[in-house]
Amino acid sequence: MRLTAYGSAAEDAVEAAASYIENMDALMSTGLETSEIAQLNATGTMMLSADSAAVMQRAIEICHDTDGAFNPLMYPVMEAWGFPSKEYRVPMQDELEELLTLTDISQVQFHEADGQVSFGIDGMKADLGGIAKGYTSSQIKEIFNSFGVTSGLVTLGGNVQAVGSKTDGSPWRVAVQNPESEGEYLGVLEVSDKAVITSGGYERYFEEDGKKYHHIMDPDSGYPAENGLTSVTIVSEDGTLADALSTALFVMGLENASDYWQEHSQQFDAVFLTETGTILVTEGIEDIFSSGYAWTVIEKES
Ligand code: AMP
Ligand code: MG
Repeated sequence: MRLTAYGSAAEDAVEAAASYIENMDALMSTGLETSEIAQLNATGTMMLSADSAAVMQRAIEICHDTDGAFNPLMYPVMEAWGFPSKEYRVPMQDELEELLTLTDISQVQFHEADGQVSFGIDGMKADLGGIAKGYTSSQIKEIFNSFGVTSGLVTLGGNVQAVGSKTDGSPWRVAVQNPESEGEYLGVLEVSDKAVITSGGYERYFEEDGKKYHHIMDPDSGYPAENGLTSVTIVSEDGTLADALSTALFVMGLENASDYWQEHSQQFDAVFLTETGTILVTEGIEDIFSSGYAWTVIEKES
């Protein structure tokens, strides 16, 4: 993580933000036996505290909105591939098919009022890894503001949240990483008060028999999503949404992702990189994106 804040209370703001991040990790990390999510996964029921409940609620809502492309119940599948343990393996197709029965969102009972979650099928397990960082960085924006910090930048593992603008009033310049070569970037986005969040298979993967298997699962098949995209960057005022959609649109592939944007263009914009090296940018960020590469605009259909 990298936290930058300007203003007279900047140091206190950064300290508060850092302990908030630690707290969120302690609540939501699947790998930490004592976390609320780990306890939910072990017993199938849990009373979530306010932050984890808020993330769970958005995760379920976005699962419905994306027709299941974002699915917060993929943990059994992640385990089968060995991502949590780092003991990687390629599961058999019938093993995956069986595990996919545990990813049925209608089998989650969630009571918003008190944060009570229960799973309808034994063995169901939640994984908020595709959304938690975006929620956390958007909350940090609020923490910064509560300290009077109106200019700052929050980076959590490649997810960027701009707080206000730079101190001179000009927008933050956020680079979009080039998955092909580390340290280089595809382009730059100029943003104020927005989240810029990227998902791609290149972030975490293992190789077996010369084939790469990455960490973003297609909930329809249980296999790593291979729908022609190399990375998806979402730009939105809603950091939680941006994180979940970066994962979901990567799963959808370009055509379905563009359709989804057409329906929701008021809520977010996106930069897509395809496997063939094409960069596409949705209309709403056309004027704040710049790149040394050629790129195409996805226009709004009337
Ligand atoms: P991100 O880096 O935001 O794209 O999130 C990827 C992480 O989300 C993975 O490491 C898994 O923990 C989890 N995940 C994998 N596939 C999905 C999916 N289809 N929907 C939601 N979360 C997923
Ligand atoms: Mg995500």
